[in-house]
Amino acid sequence: MADTGRTAGWEDEVARRRARAASEGFEITPVPGPSLPGYMGVYRVRGRSGATYQVEIVEPGAAVNRCQCLDFLTNGLGTCKHIEAVLLHLGAGRTAGPGSDPPRAGTAGAAPGGPGPLPAALGPAPEVLVFDLETQRTFDEVGGRHNVSRLALALGVTYSLRRKEFRTFGEKEVAALVDELRAADAVVGFNLVRFDYQVLQPYTPFDLASLRTLDILEELEKVLGHRVSLDSLARATLGLGKTADGLKAVEWFKEGRLDLVEEYCRADVDITRRLFEFGLRRGYLLYVSRPDGQTRRVAAWWGQGQVKEFYEKALA
Ligand SMILES: [Zn+2]
Repeated sequence: MADTGRTAGWEDEVARRRARAASEGFEITPVPGPSLPGYMGVYRVRGRSGATYQVEIVEPGAAVNRCQCLDFLTNGLGTCKHIEAVLLHLGAGRTAGPGSDPPRAGTAGAAPGGPGPLPAALGPAPEVLVFDLETQRTFDEVGGRHNVSRLALALGVTYSLRRKEFRTFGEKEVAALVDELRAADAVVGFNLVRFDYQVLQPYTPFDLASLRTLDILEELEKVLGHRVSLDSLARATLGLGKTADGLKAVEWFKEGRLDLVEEYCRADVDITRRLFEFGLRRGYLLYVSRPDGQTRRVAAWWGQGQVKEFYEKALA
């Protein structure tokens, strides 16, 4: 986890919230959910005023915890009095969830919520980008999934919710792509943390894990305890499927058909955007459950509370 910005002032700010957590008499109720190793779950935190926020604790002291309150969204500390209240309630010294399994790989270091403040959260319209990329090579060609960083960028596509406009970046424009992602207030995508950012990381010294990211795959996986495919979500929620797949896109790249790669990547960005917006408006998404083929609902965290307000501003 990046320690950027953790100064003496940071310690004071956290201490202030911890003190309020102890003194304000919050009522804390666990929200039933999946039991995952190293995952401490979701809690409803009710203040004396009656205001209630949902808090998710992945790991004590980590920037991956989150709360729906405006302070959490804007302070850049990765915590707030509600999170601190839950940690106090749980016994702050704990380092793991039920059982004592280590934190899940790929979660603690990945920071799906992304550290850092949301500077535009209180301003008019934050810049939120939906992002996806295609690769030059397949996993087979680079020796397996652990070599994701060797796949190389074919092209990346962003869609700005504010400008309502797509942009395409080829490998030569990768610096401009990274600049655009860095300038955004939040980046939305599907499997960004474990795939797209890993493909892109070799091109830049900037730590892509520090981008404020809403990774729909990871968000849903935390709720369900298993992964769901973009195709399953798109079919069940939107009534449409993916237009091709990543392997086909690699073939097109090799044939020099970057136009087809771009068209496919845009289509995936558009599906991701529609799923994001559906979740934002309704607070859930639909997916086709593997074992029985039934359509089921899964909660969309970003469609609740002040997080929802933040993203709605981006669409206004
Ligand atoms: Zn809070």
